[in-house]
Amino acid sequence: MEEKQLSLFKLVKFKNKADTEMPANVSLEKNQLWCPYCSNKVIFKRDKRLGVKKCPICNITIHDYWVKKVNHLV
Ligand SMILES: [Zn+2]
Repeated sequence: MEEKQLSLFKLVKFKNKADTEMPANVSLEKNQLWCPYCSNKVIFKRDKRLGVKKCPICNITIHDYWVKKVNHLV
């Protein structure tokens, strides 16, 4: 399951600028969030050491302003 996800992520192009909104055609499943830096649906995973949830691709934390903004967490 996890390996399957990783192979998809190889296609992801990383961006310097975060998305300011989630694309309108995106529908998130349970536990998924939109990562504005990967432009991808991801499940933020809790970092056991730091105790914060992070994007498994780019490691941005859920506390990032744009992560919260695009997912309407602010
Ligand atoms: Zn990301």
